[in-house]
Amino acid sequence: MEPKFPNIDERPAHTSSGQPIMYFTFDDGPAEDTPAILAALAAYNASATFFVMGAQVKANPDILRAEVEAGHYIGNHTYNHPSLRDIEHDLFLTEMNQTYDIVQAAAGEMFKLDGRMYLMRPPYGYTDDNTEGWARDLGYDLVMWTIDPWDWDMPGTDVIVSKVLAGAHPGAIVLLHDGGGDRSQTTAALHQLLPTLAEQGYVFHNLYLGW
Ligand SMILES: [Zn+2]
Repeated sequence: MEPKFPNIDERPAHTSSGQPIMYFTFDDGPAEDTPAILAALAAYNASATFFVMGAQVKANPDILRAEVEAGHYIGNHTYNHPSLRDIEHDLFLTEMNQTYDIVQAAAGEMFKLDGRMYLMRPPYGYTDDNTEGWARDLGYDLVMWTIDPWDWDMPGTDVIVSKVLAGAHPGAIVLLHDGGGDRSQTTAALHQLLPTLAEQGYVFHNLYLGW
């Protein structure tokens, strides 16, 4: 099945009125700190993309619904977060399809488009020669990133902020995490990043509204 979206590399870098766009993405949730991240995004009128894990959706369906309700876009980050490098095809299919099924069960009726998921991000960014083709067979486009401040490693709020600002560019895809541990630094960084970038003219779109 061909993905509905054009190649992720063709995402717009600017709005039709010329404002630069940044695409914030959050992996590994939904989780305990996701509501605080949702509040930070809402405070600055920012839309984002959440690459969710099926196991986390099963544990936190209401948080997933809050993400969708707020207009954020949901991508597939596998069920149990295995490396997709050298993974067996059957397990790849299970990881992707079980995540799709649990997302649909939790919030499918809230989905826009035709209820499908079109974007996936491989855990750790690990891929092999099969990954892209197998993902496309399921109708997914692979989404990597252009800015990675290593927020999962908790380097300090200031480090996260400075790395994202240093890498900021129109069309940037920023890799952050709402799951996988204490995300208070990520949340605090957003409260600095979003107003600072907005002052520079940036708007924040999810990877659906950007098309
Ligand atoms: Zn991940």
